[in-house]
Amino acid sequence: MSISENLKFIHQQIHAACQQANRPQSAVQLLAVSKTKPVSAIQEAIEAGQMAFGENYVQEGVEKIQYFRNENLEWHFIGPLQSNKTRLVAEHFDWMHTVEREKIAQRLNDQRPANLSPLNVLIQINISDENSKSGIKPEEMLDLANQIKDLPNLKLRGLMTIPAPCEEAEEQKLTLSAMQKLFEELKQALPNEQIDTLSMGMSDDMESAIACGSTMVRIGTAIFGARNYS
Ligand SMILES: *Cc1c(COP(=O)(O)O)cnc(C)c1O
Repeated sequence: MSISENLKFIHQQIHAACQQANRPQSAVQLLAVSKTKPVSAIQEAIEAGQMAFGENYVQEGVEKIQYFRNENLEWHFIGPLQSNKTRLVAEHFDWMHTVEREKIAQRLNDQRPANLSPLNVLIQINISDENSKSGIKPEEMLDLANQIKDLPNLKLRGLMTIPAPCEEAEEQKLTLSAMQKLFEELKQALPNEQIDTLSMGMSDDMESAIACGSTMVRIGTAIFGARNYS
């Protein structure tokens, strides 16, 4: 199938999952994860109407952003970020999904160019994966959120998570609902912030994530096909 057919199919799946969950389709945004894929693939997705793209590798992402600078696209950084690479994210991206330390938030804030709108940020939560070092513990969320909300060049928009792979549907549901609860807690704790984004759900768990309140699904393989490296 072509990229445009894949996109159409995913939009249908999002629509069906939203209907089942009694949510409007507009409640869930599709982020096309284009890491490792060439600009020709991104071009095809743009022609099919896709405007928001996610990248995991800073240098690769910046090259694509520059290549498409005349298109009105939205670029999301979704990979792990070392502190010596924050400047490139601050200068080029619109969203940053994987903030997990105050030091990174502070650097992104200090390096965000004054002529750009504040960088939209999500706090990455480690909700289920004891082996993964990515993301903070749920009980650490409010401290970091309060630090980020006082940084003028960042705009805290919500949470992101990559749940551990899990075969049991019930266990998967429990994990995703724990994120939904945490997201509600964050909204209640910061009623004056625009907390509206729960970045949750990939090719394999998209439907359950939508049932549990995801507002942004990050889909790579199902749009662009398999990757040669991850
Ligand atoms: C690669 C990646 C995705 C997309 O994964 P697929 O299985 O290809 O849909 C989503 N989120 C993050 C953080 C990723 O690194």
